[in-house]
Formats: sequence, structure tokens, C-alpha cells
Amino acid sequence: CIFCSIVNGDIPSYKVYEDDKFLAFLDISQAEIGHTLIVPKKHFDNFLEMDDQTAKEMIVLVKELAKKVKAATNASGINILNNNGASAGQSVNHVHFHIIPRYDNDDLVMKFTEHKLSKEEFVSLAEKIKRG
Ligand code: 5GP
Ligand code: ZN
Repeated sequence: CIFCSIVNGDIPSYKVYEDDKFLAFLDISQAEIGHTLIVPKKHFDNFLEMDDQTAKEMIVLVKELAKKVKAATNASGINILNNNGASAGQSVNHVHFHIIPRYDNDDLVMKFTEHKLSKEEFVSLAEKIKRG
């Protein structure tokens, strides 16, 4: 796993934060300048596989690091992204959050085509998700 190798130092990285459980480093492919990744040192394939305690700690750390990235880059906005599964764009199967600085009229595009639903479809969809 590439990110396990970064965690144990076999692959170098530009670190921005480290404690006993988490590491944050600059993404090698900077979607915007300041694009940062945060990973737990323990390997989990993706966010859904994480234990609750580590997930909670990670989310709080993502929030704190997002503030630091925003302050350091003078960004006017921040995207926090987490891809789960290849079809969702996950290319490294070690859970990570992306923190990406954003600016008015920057060149980063996140595009989707809206799926139109009727009121009945919204109602049954919400019920289905509620049931899980
Ligand atoms: P994903 O597509 O899985 O959500 O994101 C994986 C991210 O890891 C990509 O943005 C990619 O640029 C980054 N990445 C892949 N390999 C390396 C590496 O060796 N070092 C660093 N710093 N980032 C990497
Ligand atoms: Zn790993």
C-alpha cells in the first residue's frame, strides 16, 4: 500500500502534520496549491471500514487541518473529499481525506448531471435510505 509506505517512511512525503495515529502530507498531484491528504497510520481500505473511534478522531483532525490549509493559502473556500471505492474515484485503497483550497473562479471543476426525481420518488428514496 502506497500510503502505508508513506506512513512508515519508505516513500518520502512533504509532511504537514503527524501524531501517533495520523499523518497529513501534500498530495503529489496538487488540484489547487495546498492540496493536502490526511491518513490514519493504521491501514483501513476506506472510510466505511474504519472503527468509530478512529473515524471520529480523523474527522476532527480533518476539520483542524482544513482551517490550517485555508489560513496558509488564503483560500476563500475549502473542499473536503473522501472517495470510497474505485467507482467513486478512489485510486489508493488506504482511507484518506482530501483537503483542497478553493478560490472564486478557480479552474477546479466538479461536475455532475442532475437526476430529476418526482415527489413520490424523493419520498420513497428517503424511506429506503432511512431503512438502510
Ligand atoms: P484518491 O483518488 O484515491 O481519492 O486519491 C489518491 C491521491 O493520492 C491522488 O490525489 C494522488 O495524487 C495521491 N497520491 C498517489 N500516490 C502518491 C504518492 O506517492 N505521494 C503523494 N504525496 N500522493 C500520492
Ligand atoms: Zn495502507
